Amino acid sequence: MERLVIKFGGTSVMDAERINKAAQIVLEQSAEGVQVVVVVSAMGHATDHLIALAQDVCSKPNARELDLLLATGEQAAASLMTMAIGRHGGRAQCYTGAAAGIVTDDNFGDAHIRRIDPRSLENCLRQGVIPVVAGFQGVTEEGEITTLGRGGSDTTAIALAAFLHAKRCDIYSDVKGVYTADPRLVAEARQLSSISYVEMLELARHGAQILNPRSVQIAIDRGVQVRVRSTFSPEDPGTLVTDHAKQRGHFTSMTCDTKRDCLAVSLGMPTSDSHHLRRFRSSRLHWKNSTVKLFAATGVDVELGNLLKHDPRIMVFGVDKKHADKAKALVLQASNGIRNLSAHVETDLACVSIVSGENNSAIEVEAILTLTRSNIPITFVTRSSHRFSLFVPTSKMHDALNALHNNRVLLAKAA
Ligand code: ADP
Ligand code: ASP
Ligand code: MG
Repeated sequence: MERLVIKFGGTSVMDAERINKAAQIVLEQSAEGVQVVVVVSAMGHATDHLIALAQDVCSKPNARELDLLLATGEQAAASLMTMAIGRHGGRAQCYTGAAAGIVTDDNFGDAHIRRIDPRSLENCLRQGVIPVVAGFQGVTEEGEITTLGRGGSDTTAIALAAFLHAKRCDIYSDVKGVYTADPRLVAEARQLSSISYVEMLELARHGAQILNPRSVQIAIDRGVQVRVRSTFSPEDPGTLVTDHAKQRGHFTSMTCDTKRDCLAVSLGMPTSDSHHLRRFRSSRLHWKNSTVKLFAATGVDVELGNLLKHDPRIMVFGVDKKHADKAKALVLQASNGIRNLSAHVETDLACVSIVSGENNSAIEVEAILTLTRSNIPITFVTRSSHRFSLFVPTSKMHDALNALHNNRVLLAKAA
């Protein structure tokens, strides 16, 4: 029999009424002759409340103790969802991450799933019972409870779909699917019928909360079909995340976040003397390569950027805020060969990203012109094969996103 993993996010299980509505969706799917596995997030903002509570008790709670506390949010939801399925005539049984066989490393607060022993869930399914698994958590080899990072119930669901060989993983949320931008930020955003894995990964990594980036990576690695859909409009087919997404023009969706700073490095002044200039260029290249390697070796999350007006003396990087100080220290440490090197971190920036089937210069030019016309200063840009990101002042993030989304030329290209 085919299997389907269904995950409900926090808003979908916010109160008793919504839990009952979600339970009915589970039973409707199960009535279609598939084996259903359910994954739930904590109710509403339960995780935020638990974090705030821990911080009230102690300003810097220990990660191990915090994980034990946070895992209770999803456990409460799983238990209640199991009761609701029972109330509507189904047979269900709830599982913690540990009881579902989800084994992780011991990186408390942001643990990675190492393996899943699916025997308990297989047993449950064999008996015709619906397993309801608490998302966002696992257990170390030593039996310690861990959590998988914010939004980690998506990871639980997609990893379970992979290990249980499910035909698909349905992620039920409070929006109908993946849109051309966050519909809460852009009123004109439109729902997509499908999106490719790689585009979804770029969106998730650059602020689109709808799916957790690690969950998308697992879907890619294990070939899991994912459907993003709404608990409140379950008849809507939602958005399919797959490798055969409908080909559009250039732009698929836009996103924004404030997770990154700008690390600007000044490499001193080259003289106009051609010999010195050659030497400067060669040590610049050498410095760039060794610094990028150093970042990778130390796990610092950075991306090389470009200024709109090229200046050979300045290099810019987009760096995860959590790593900014470390990145600056590494840059200064690796200054060998370059005299007068200095570095500074610029904060208060937002990164607005255009994700597309294939990034190209036409999109880049149009995006830069659009923001310039709207008097929005661009600090620097970064790019990948499917994304073009523009760093703007945080206060201009919303305007920039809307100006780009409403640009007719970009829209025409997206048609
Ligand atoms: P859940 O609690 O169900 O896990 P999340 O809050 O994590 O839900 O994710 C859903 C939210 O993602 C939506 O309410 C929406 O505001 C936001 N979002 C961001 N970008 C997009 C997008 N491109 N398409 C749809 N929703 C998006
Ligand atoms: N409850 C967790 C969080 O709020 C996990 C999740 O919702 O996916 O981050
Ligand atoms: Mg989520």
